[in-house]
Amino acid sequence: MENLNDLCKKQHDLAVKLGNIESNFANIIFYPKNEIIVNFPVKLESGKIEMFKGYRIQHSNILGPYKGGLRFHHDVYLDECKALAYWMTLKCSLQSLPLGGAKGGIKFDPRLYSDEDMKRISIGFSGALYKYIGTDCDIPAPDVGTNSKVMDWMTASVQRINRTHDNGMFTGKSLEYGGSKGRSEATGRGVGLCLQSWADAKNVNLVDNTYIIQGFGNVGSFTAEYLDGLGMHCKGIGDHTGYYVSDSFINVKDAIKYCAKNKSLEGFDSVKVTKKEFFSIRCNVVILAALELQLCGDEALYINCDVLIEGANGPTDIDADKILENKGIDVIPDILANSGGVVVSYFEWLQNLRKEYWELDDIRRKLYDRMTATFKKVWEHSRENKMAMRTSAYILSLTNLQKNYEIKYNF
Ligand code: NAD
Repeated sequence: MENLNDLCKKQHDLAVKLGNIESNFANIIFYPKNEIIVNFPVKLESGKIEMFKGYRIQHSNILGPYKGGLRFHHDVYLDECKALAYWMTLKCSLQSLPLGGAKGGIKFDPRLYSDEDMKRISIGFSGALYKYIGTDCDIPAPDVGTNSKVMDWMTASVQRINRTHDNGMFTGKSLEYGGSKGRSEATGRGVGLCLQSWADAKNVNLVDNTYIIQGFGNVGSFTAEYLDGLGMHCKGIGDHTGYYVSDSFINVKDAIKYCAKNKSLEGFDSVKVTKKEFFSIRCNVVILAALELQLCGDEALYINCDVLIEGANGPTDIDADKILENKGIDVIPDILANSGGVVVSYFEWLQNLRKEYWELDDIRRKLYDRMTATFKKVWEHSRENKMAMRTSAYILSLTNLQKNYEIKYNF
């Protein structure tokens, strides 16, 4: 499998070339400012002491404090965190947020650990990281394998160490512990809003349109729920246990309930197919909401849809991008499509700073405004310059970062 940071570099170089980004700045911005690696022991419920390796890549703070998720997954590696941190920087810049980019995680399989062990591992990690994070310095959030419970444990542990009530140093917390209404649904909702904006731009009526979705965790399930509300029909869903289709469409609400109870789609009432069969399904929309590098090279040849949306980070490689472009399939790129999560994380951070709680309607309206305005900006740039939306999103984002860098560092 391709190294994720190599994919990131290729996308970066293409945007630098086509967007006339200044070459010294282009080189500087690609490299993360800080690469933090911590090794820490955790005493598990069994009494065994296990060593864990955690990463935190602080990519850029040109626009504000570092911001990005923490991932618990058996495939976490340094170069993956670097790429994901770079994309966070670009995402925040594209959305004009006063935040930088970061990412981190621990390489282990959370499914193999009890809830109590997860708590001890989370507290161990935040204890090892606390010097490097903070409301005005670096603000982690949930990602694959982590959730509001993990953010609560980490926030409480850093509060104890720092003897503070401040809870703005993490986002994605539970509502009871300073989290924001609308944060859990935000990324999936943002994916849905991007699709609606695309449909408006293309004069497409989405009612009765069909879709398939890979990944049925936080992003995938909230996206499916949103598209259900638009009157769209789901032809297939997939997760780490396989791909599930149904002639009479997937009942999304049943699938969400099943997944919540069984922790995966394994055994869900439907027909199981291969990944190739799944991605060959004719539908209007394909949504990638699992992990990176899921659609690589020739795999894109199977895709038979009008538009593909990247709910996940980096799910499509350069070769697949070219194939999709040649097939005339629009790709709504990750740094735009899944930016709803960091937008509402920003709202959570603001609420924490101001000691306020905002209403859900207010948050949804603000998210709508940001997602539709940013989509429009990227769409118009891509049409005017006859380039893929990914390249346009990169160019807009890098140009904004370059302007800020020039002012900040007198460059
Ligand atoms: P999650 O852990 O809640 O869900 C991940 C889903 O992907 C699960 O359904 C899992 O079974 C599935 N999956 C894992 N490996 C797979 C494989 N090999 N093949 C098919 N399916 C597989 O994670 P999430 O928070 O939904 O994140 C999904 C993606 O979205 C990640 O790329 C993440 O970085 C990105 N993202 C998440 C957020 C957020 O707010 N959670 C924000 C922006 C981007």
